[in-house]
Amino acid sequence: MSAPIVITCQPHFGYWSEPCALCGGQTEEAAVLPVFVAPDGAEHFVCGECLEAGAPAAPGRVLAWAVRLERWAAALRELLVPRQFTMPSVAEWRAANEAHEAQVAVEDFLDGLNRPPTEPGEPGKPT
Ligand SMILES: [Zn+2]
Repeated sequence: MSAPIVITCQPHFGYWSEPCALCGGQTEEAAVLPVFVAPDGAEHFVCGECLEAGAPAAPGRVLAWAVRLERWAAALRELLVPRQFTMPSVAEWRAANEAHEAQVAVEDFLDGLNRPPTEPGEPGKPT
């Protein structure tokens, strides 16, 4: 039998957007994350749900994720059955993003004009 997978709590900075290595779920935004180190030295994060499920549930969670990945891989291969992709350019994407952010800024500004002041002495509030 091979060595067990040991999960420890380790401080990390800014990597928490990686999926959980056991279930593919989202890892938490925390300075200290559960981690296991693979034989090749690569560190893999583990989510709080997997910790809550406990070590006995880990193999089942890994297997369930593997099955989901295999289904996803099959769906991706189906996309390639002779089809061509069309997609926006990076410039179009950036322009759409900037237009959206500008619209949100206008909506936030208008919301601010319509919102009554909440603190005494705040500009616009009668004293
Ligand atoms: Zn997980």
